[in-house]
Amino acid sequence: MDMLDPLPPSVLRDRLIALADVYARADAAVDAFVAASGLACPFGCGTCCEAFIPDILPVEADFVALHLVRHDRDDAYRLAARGLSAQSHDGGRLGCPLYRADTPYHCGVYENRPLICRMFAFSAVRDKHGHSAFSLCKLMHVQPQQIRIGVGSELVSIFRAEPPVMADFGSELVGIDPAVAGIRRPIHELIGPAIMKLLFLVGMGSNPEGNGPPVSPPVPRAS
Ligand code: SF4
Repeated sequence: MDMLDPLPPSVLRDRLIALADVYARADAAVDAFVAASGLACPFGCGTCCEAFIPDILPVEADFVALHLVRHDRDDAYRLAARGLSAQSHDGGRLGCPLYRADTPYHCGVYENRPLICRMFAFSAVRDKHGHSAFSLCKLMHVQPQQIRIGVGSELVSIFRAEPPVMADFGSELVGIDPAVAGIRRPIHELIGPAIMKLLFLVGMGSNPEGNGPPVSPPVPRAS
């Protein structure tokens, strides 16, 4: 798997392979629902990331950190040293620190983004009876007569397909590293330590003859 190439064989690498598999199936489930329902976000919309900071699992933070380490190692060092903080937007909204208004999908780690970002707006929750419940994002443009909310068996007649349930994929993620299953934190709290871990592991597995950027920051020497 190319995306994991810089990582040497390790428990973390195995966990990220399992994570990528869950993400691939979640993406496929969302794609199938989008195709069947015809629903779509407004073109170029990134509003949800401007007023939202995802809570994620540590293994998801590791996957995000891997993206940052692979794509811009100098920037990864800077982020690990300085930390990340929420972005401020108009109206006092606090948004994700990885939001990038100038990129096509408005996300600085799009390929490695967390589960909630992959499924948000195109997935259902379970109500207290265990039925799937789904409502349209208020920003989605649909026909005026379109019913915007549904539960259980009515979902197929309203939206032409049943949306995937995010919790079903979320419980699979929890199973990847059950020892820390209870830990969900805002993304900016986990990314710094995750970057440090990834830099260490990538450094361990790097080829000293390679031509890539240095894997360790310069160390001051006493003279
Ligand atoms: S990780 Fe990316 S998709 Fe998720 S909230 Fe942040 S900017 Fe948005």
